[in-house]
Amino acid sequence: LTLRPSRQDTCSIRVSFEFFPPKTPEMETTLWSSIERLAPLDPQFVSVTYGAGGSTRERTHATVSRLVRETNLRPAAHLTCVAATKEEVNDVIRSYWDAGVRHVVALRGDPVGGLGTAYVPHPGGYQQACDLVAAIKGVGDFEVSVSAYPEKHPEAASLDADIDALKAKVDCGADRAITQFFFDNDHYFRYLDRVRAKGINISIVPGIVPVQNFKQTSNFAAKTGASIPAWLAARFDGLDNDVDTRKLIAAAVAAEQVIDLVDHGVNEFHFYTMNRADLVYAICHLLGLRDHTVKAAA
Ligand code: FAD
Repeated sequence: LTLRPSRQDTCSIRVSFEFFPPKTPEMETTLWSSIERLAPLDPQFVSVTYGAGGSTRERTHATVSRLVRETNLRPAAHLTCVAATKEEVNDVIRSYWDAGVRHVVALRGDPVGGLGTAYVPHPGGYQQACDLVAAIKGVGDFEVSVSAYPEKHPEAASLDADIDALKAKVDCGADRAITQFFFDNDHYFRYLDRVRAKGINISIVPGIVPVQNFKQTSNFAAKTGASIPAWLAARFDGLDNDVDTRKLIAAAVAAEQVIDLVDHGVNEFHFYTMNRADLVYAICHLLGLRDHTVKAAA
């Protein structure tokens, strides 16, 4: 690992943070202390994921609304097409607009039966993510982000077909794409070349996951089509019961990844925080980000 000064001006680095809505009071406390820790880094936006069931939907709404009410952060609400009619989805979009939310991350969503089962669109609902993008833009002047898959979405017939699906979302008004996480930057660079060759010019922001727990990340990666390189497995080998060393390795791995991306001209990053601030804060510090409230006071 070479922690050298990067070629890019670190002032131009922009980050966003993704959180999931908490299920218990303890998780709620963890989430808000993480938000408090990361907020001074002045993220472009903070996003909150969306689940299929009713209660998880309400939790997303509650978390996003609290971000609007109690912070100066710019929240982005994730929204999916899953198990809802167009009218129900439109109501959710309107309620976000009324609450002052101006950014939505539009997704088809995962099958109700979980990852790996077949996706069945709701007969009265939006069939694909691009339809949802158009619907959101129809309700208000929202900024809309969508997903992108450098290693191909598991359901897509080919990477080419997947990029066509991304193009459809852009043609419907998507402003930015956030990638599924990846560990081998070459996947991202090759993907970017192919995306640009198809005339897609929006930002394709790399999604970075600090590996809090290697086993969990590998299991999730297997379901989402993200590959785990052998070198990554080797780095975490033998550390299942050694949380402290795992954390140091996780920080080193993520640092190496983002610095390489910066060296290749990338200046926007989306962090999958898992509602934990420490690793993400450290990586952002390494990227040159500092507490803007301290800077402003100075
Ligand atoms: P799309 O972009 O619409 O499709 C992805 C690919 O799959 C395309 O190539 C498309 O053509 C192909 N495809 C889609 N449907 C079919 C089909 N029936 N047959 C063949 N090919 C098909 N999930 C949540 O539930 N909540 C969230 O908050 C959430 N946030 C996410 C944030 C990011 C940044 C990312 C990358 C993913 C997120 N997901 C979330 C996961 C996402 O919902 C799943 O990956 C889902 O399976 C696809 O939704 P999408 O909008 O990415 O799909």
